[in-house]
Amino acid sequence: MILAQLPRLHLSIFAKSHFSLASSHFNLINPNPPVKLAKTLFSSLATVEPVPLPVSDSSHLEDAPMEIPLDKLFIPPETDISGDDPSRLAARILKGSNIVLSKYARDAQVVQADYVKSSVRTEDCPADGLPEFALVGRSNVGKSSLLNSLVKRKRLALTSKKPGKTQCINHFRINDNWYLVDLPGYGYASAPHELKKDWNKFTKDYFLNRSTLVSVFLLVDASLPAKQIDLDYASWLGQNQVPMTMVFTKCDKRKKKKNGGKKPEENIKEFQDLIQGFFETTPPWIMTSSVTNQGRDEILLHMAQLRNYWLKH
Ligand code: GDP
Repeated sequence: MILAQLPRLHLSIFAKSHFSLASSHFNLINPNPPVKLAKTLFSSLATVEPVPLPVSDSSHLEDAPMEIPLDKLFIPPETDISGDDPSRLAARILKGSNIVLSKYARDAQVVQADYVKSSVRTEDCPADGLPEFALVGRSNVGKSSLLNSLVKRKRLALTSKKPGKTQCINHFRINDNWYLVDLPGYGYASAPHELKKDWNKFTKDYFLNRSTLVSVFLLVDASLPAKQIDLDYASWLGQNQVPMTMVFTKCDKRKKKKNGGKKPEENIKEFQDLIQGFFETTPPWIMTSSVTNQGRDEILLHMAQLRNYWLKH
């Protein structure tokens, strides 16, 4: 079914599906017994017949909303959508993403953010066992801007841009109970080959051996066509079964088609198509802009639901 065939009701319901962080708990009833998932935080909908749902930021209604088939949704563990009709399901999807909200989506607000330390080896990272999320992406993708926007502090991420820290694992403690981790940007055209190899080695070691890492947040610039280096990164994470969320940045940059540029939605779709073979199930993805703050609350809710599930298991 294509969007044009869906009743308009779906769109208007979808436009309301923006969850506010003011409400710290969502009453999402799960009528079925919880299904425990092995290891991975991803689940699939292989048995559900795909029905496209509109997924879009309604602030850009001059563009057709993105469609998302049911089997391309990210369904968190212990979340059942089989009893939901399309409008109820649409209301449970985070705006501008493929992420369904679970009963674990609570306590998402950032009240406090503190720089803790910069480490050059995984074993030097904080040892207090708190869950963490690592932000990684090509240099200039908008990582510092996103980090600042998430914590609502204009200059916090500058800490990890200081000389000597750009190549470190930088830990920021949030609300004294979880970490945001800023990893070195990759793809510096001018970096010497040996240096690139070194960064690769230690970030890969971190991904594979950091037991408190809940999910990597791979940032990809949605204003540009898919880049090989980002596809390689996504592929490596997928093949090594490192839980990953794709964060598409700069979604406010809307190039006019008549000028040959593609819209963020088109670049995102293309990226998804190119990486789908690397993953058993569709990874979560989300559209963001540090200029308009699009996706900020949604990322925090997604982190909260992954974190709260992780803490309980
Ligand atoms: P980093 O190197 O990944 O930390 O990237 P920065 O956060 O320093 O951003 C790189 C450039 O992209 C800067 O000029 C930012 O102003 C710009 N930028 C970052 N995020 C956005 C965004 O969401 N929208 C737009 N239009 N520009 C952005």
